[in-house]
Amino acid sequence: ILERRSLDALRNENGEAMHYVSIFNDISDHHAKDEQLRHLAFHDPLTGLCNRALLQDRLEQSIRLAQRQQTGMAVLYLDLDQFKSVNDSMGHHVGDQLLCQIAQRLRQQVRAVDTLARIGGDEFVVLMNAVDQPEHCHVLADKLLAAIDEPLELEGNRLHIRTSIGMALYPQHGSDGKTLMKCADMAMYSAKAAGRNTARFFHPAMSEQAEQRMQMEIALREAIEQDQFQLHYQAKFDARSGHVVGYEALLRWRHPQWGPVPPDRFIPVAEDAGLIGAIGAMVIAKACAQLADWERQGFGWQTVAINVSVRQLEHDDLIGLISMELQRHGVPYPCLQVEVTESVLVAQPEQTLPVLRRLRELGVKVAIDDFGTGHSSLAYLYRLPVDVLKIDRTFVQHMGQDDSALAVVRTILSLSQTLHLQTVAEGVETEQQADLLRQAGCDVFQGYLFARPEPAANIEAGWVAQSVH
Ligand code: C2E
Ligand code: MG
Ligand code: MG
Repeated sequence: ILERRSLDALRNENGEAMHYVSIFNDISDHHAKDEQLRHLAFHDPLTGLCNRALLQDRLEQSIRLAQRQQTGMAVLYLDLDQFKSVNDSMGHHVGDQLLCQIAQRLRQQVRAVDTLARIGGDEFVVLMNAVDQPEHCHVLADKLLAAIDEPLELEGNRLHIRTSIGMALYPQHGSDGKTLMKCADMAMYSAKAAGRNTARFFHPAMSEQAEQRMQMEIALREAIEQDQFQLHYQAKFDARSGHVVGYEALLRWRHPQWGPVPPDRFIPVAEDAGLIGAIGAMVIAKACAQLADWERQGFGWQTVAINVSVRQLEHDDLIGLISMELQRHGVPYPCLQVEVTESVLVAQPEQTLPVLRRLRELGVKVAIDDFGTGHSSLAYLYRLPVDVLKIDRTFVQHMGQDDSALAVVRTILSLSQTLHLQTVAEGVETEQQADLLRQAGCDVFQGYLFARPEPAANIEAGWVAQSVH
């Protein structure tokens, strides 16, 4: 046992010691509590893994060791993909269980000499010591990816979680802990962007990209505040009659200094920065206001399709938002269409499909955008709550030169006919493409051959000119 002993002398008025009092205290309990506190201070209470503070300490130690032994070491930065949506949709206790199971799996892959830490919600870090060849680091990363890729059982739900890993090496990428962590973090972002379940080494070009991303994020926040956005409208045409059957609203951002920024560049940043909800809501509001305005001006009710990001389907009350805006402007539900990319339907069907189903019940038509690129199985297409299939631009563009592209287009068209889906060909640029598509039975054309995306005022001018003739 551990004891604390105090010894006091009791003295008389002359200062002589008359008695000695010794007090013994059993403090083993205290000591255990101290240990416990120390453990708490350096470990993550949920998973029992090292926390950020201990990681920092170990990282400096690892670097010193590598320096002395003239070897390398590596920082692996892991971030779970879609953890947030599991947490939001299934509750925090399921999220917690998930993290514990993941921690357990990671623990099995990491050697005793290495360090495994959890440093944030769904972020883990592995310190790998004695790395003399970068490939070794990749081997470990692949093992970690494979371990997490196995399906999880959580409260009767089978879940598939994936990961992105960024890797930074000492001494190649940095000589201190802070730099290495930053590099690994940037590499992780790049891995995420490259597609899910990948590991990436840091590369100096990434710091530049990260800087640009941050600038873009700051600019986007300002753009939302100052409403620097506008919608352009691209007409869609009936393949047989040539009549306009509707419009697609495409977002345009003009930055005061940079000029126009294409949506393919800023939408992904907005999605990552959690800004897509605000931007998406603004798109819905603008499109509804425009529809009502056209009707007021005497152009009748038009049909407008808006593009919706997967994040909007996962997190926001999209149905409530759409209903509110349609009602506020007195727009009939069938005037609005929603386009979601095919990958959305494949990624999180349990969450997205009910939202789409509900939208259709309200009368809002649902289109699959960029069809053919999302690797969804054609066999399960018939179960999807969709009305319209938009054939991706790349197939349309290669159709003339490439027989297999033509075959894909024909297959998609015959399948969608069987399923009674309307088909829209995106990016039709030549007469030849239009002819091939028409022969194959495509219903609707969209593309520069017929019309470009234009501001609402141009569309109105076109109607006015038409009515004059
Ligand atoms: P998308 O929904 O597939 O839109 C079609 C894109 O093809 C548009 O690019 C359009 O301008 C372009 N396009 C149309 N016809 C042709 C053609 O004949 N040739 C070629 N080369 N291109 C053509 P844009 O406007 O740059 O938008 C790119 C993507 O950004 C859209 O692809 C959509 O996924 C996304 N996006 C645009 N607006 C929004 C929005 O309001 N919200 C969300 N979440 N995403 C949006
Ligand atoms: Mg679209
Ligand atoms: Mg598209």
